[in-house]
Amino acid sequence: MNGNVPYPITASDPHEGVIPHAYLCIRRSQHCAWCGRVHEWSELYAQTFLRAGMGMGKPVTNLRRLDQPRYNLPIRHHTVAEVEVAFCHACCFPSLSHLPAPPPAPHTVLNTAIWSQTEAKDSPKPAKRPRKSLTIDDIFAKLKE
Ligand SMILES: [Zn+2]
Repeated sequence: MNGNVPYPITASDPHEGVIPHAYLCIRRSQHCAWCGRVHEWSELYAQTFLRAGMGMGKPVTNLRRLDQPRYNLPIRHHTVAEVEVAFCHACCFPSLSHLPAPPPAPHTVLNTAIWSQTEAKDSPKPAKRPRKSLTIDDIFAKLKE
């Protein structure tokens, strides 16, 4: 559960298969810790209640992302608790100067080739040994061996 809202299934068409029982408007908001702005937006879903397996237990709520409603169905509203983000799109260029610099040599810690590859591109490559191409006669000669 995501703040008492089931996780949506967004891959399927909202009106395909089982007809939804309602449309759900979820109001979300986030508070930017850097600039203090609060951003709000709505997400629309087609909500369908499905019987649990074998008809036992609580019904399962299915949410499918909705672009355009197709039927005259009830519209339900739900507000999710505000979340906090470190910085947002409205912060022009937040400074992270109060944070420490990253470790000096990440490639030695990770032992990966991320930085080594860029260094390797700059260094001259060893000369490749010319590859001998086989002729038909060479192939027949190898088959006779
Ligand atoms: Zn911000």
